[in-house]
Amino acid sequence: MTDVSIFTRIMNGEIPSDKVYEDDDCICIKDISPKAPVHLLLIPRKQIPRLVDATAEDQALLGQLMIKAGDIARENGVGDAFRLIVNNGEEAGQTVFHLHLHILGGKQFTESQL
Ligand code: 5GP
Repeated sequence: MTDVSIFTRIMNGEIPSDKVYEDDDCICIKDISPKAPVHLLLIPRKQIPRLVDATAEDQALLGQLMIKAGDIARENGVGDAFRLIVNNGEEAGQTVFHLHLHILGGKQFTESQL
């Protein structure tokens, strides 16, 4: 049994968060340690540890997240200029093992900041 992630605990209301969106499948919160003027985390309610742990069964959910990310970015004032980042695995910088999309915007990014 996978441990309950900090994001699941946030969804369950055990840990406070600054929520900008939620529906039956996902939640979007402000990152506690923002790396850009707008830094949101779009998190499926389903606790998939890493992107590579998603299966064919999750295909619709993943598509839904990508589309929702664009809507949420626009609703949060970054228009059509934003970055979507998924860190997969510890070496890639993943620290919370509950799949999430970072939505970053509100500043000029350069390639070197990848
Ligand atoms: P990762 O490094 O796994 O891709 O991203 C995890 C993100 O979650 C980090 O940017 C970190 O700042 C954020 N984070 C960790 N704990 C919390 C929390 O309790 N609340 C919120 N809002 N963000 C968190």
